[in-house]
Amino acid sequence: MRASAARRAALPSSPMLRRLSTAARALPSADRLSFAREHLMAGLAPPTWGDLEIASAKGSWLTAADGATYLDFTCGIGVTNTGHCHPKIVRAIQAQAEALLHGQVSIGLHSPLVALVEELMAGVLPASHERVMVSTTGAEAVENAVRIAKASTGRQNIISFQGGYHGRSAATLALTRSKTAYGAGSFPHVAGCFSAPFPYETQSPGLGVDGALYQLDLVLKQQTPPADTAALIIEPVLGEGGYVPAPAAFLQGLRERCDAHGILLILDEVQCGIGRTGRMWAHEHSGVTPDILVMAKGIGSGLPLSAVSTTAAIAGRTLPGTLGGTYAGNAVACAAALATLDVLAEERLVENAAARGDQLLGGLRALQARHPDLIRDVRGVGLMIGLELDAPAGAAAALSRRCAAEQKLLLLPTSVFEVVRMIPPLTVSEEECDDALGRLGAALAES
Ligand code: PMP
Repeated sequence: MRASAARRAALPSSPMLRRLSTAARALPSADRLSFAREHLMAGLAPPTWGDLEIASAKGSWLTAADGATYLDFTCGIGVTNTGHCHPKIVRAIQAQAEALLHGQVSIGLHSPLVALVEELMAGVLPASHERVMVSTTGAEAVENAVRIAKASTGRQNIISFQGGYHGRSAATLALTRSKTAYGAGSFPHVAGCFSAPFPYETQSPGLGVDGALYQLDLVLKQQTPPADTAALIIEPVLGEGGYVPAPAAFLQGLRERCDAHGILLILDEVQCGIGRTGRMWAHEHSGVTPDILVMAKGIGSGLPLSAVSTTAAIAGRTLPGTLGGTYAGNAVACAAALATLDVLAEERLVENAAARGDQLLGGLRALQARHPDLIRDVRGVGLMIGLELDAPAGAAAALSRRCAAEQKLLLLPTSVFEVVRMIPPLTVSEEECDDALGRLGAALAES
């Protein structure tokens, strides 16, 4: 009997009773997972390491429904930066849930949003950014950023960079250049989106910063003239594209070109922002200030919240009513964000990200010295670390699977190249980093 048929046989016929059925919940976890997989759309790819039913998690540790415990260096893809279920954040969420779950921004501004705006303006955002728009997902925030740029410049075209990921919504797919798999089968994507190379040293040796800037200049001469180009959008550290930090000189070169042509620079810090790189914002490493900054993921510690910030002058041409959304700045998510900002400061998590990042890079370089033929590159900034393998297609996924199955260490592959990424929470301890290095070392020893 197929899993779904077995499941149906165990379920009472009435939908109401089904929901109440404890018999169904008593089915083995594997059967329940295959039932859910069968009924979720196939477009939602299963995890690299196979099905895992996540039952609970605390700090850097995750417990599966079958009781197995994993050291989680995926962090919900850079979301649970304060560690899973940080007690202070859980308490803030509980308190807010008792006071107000939802207050719609078109009806009134709720208190957690008012407090979050105050907090963001009190030194969290770049000093020149005096306007912010809150939303729910990263893709929504990227779309808002693009629309703000178009309204501000009166221009239509956008340039993104090879390897960049900006979302999987209909509009952001046209900017995402990390994998064709994300947008396959839904072409044509939104018009007016162009792309230029990213200086990714191990995959485009010899291109370098100068070569990539030259190619961008050619895009502006051969494909989209500056007068029609509203913005460049780039991740200061490529995320889904392979965990590649953009060299400071490259970001500086983009800034110069934007300034020369009246083009806006949008930095997408959805994955690399909120302390992950050992600075509050990844762009601080380069000294480049964006015109528009996009954030999400880590700001809500797991509750969906995203935002776009910019200067008063740039925001000034966005017409009232053109931005919005039912859940723009959900009250509970804003409370989670406020508690997240407190925890980041109180526990000095940004500093910890820098120190633990150095520790992991050192440990990974030692592993590279032990496996020089397998590990092509170790790179990263803060706790956004990539390990690139010199191995046939599928090797990064296979290593992640082995780490999960045999070492109970969760790591994620990323990009079209063979890259394994490490994204522990910013609360990760020195012992946990050593533990992870030991588990990875053991998995590599068996390769
Ligand atoms: N930008 C970047 C840099 C991201 O990493 C992501 C998500 N991986 C997004 C945008 C889209 O965010 P969301 O999945 O919340 O729409």
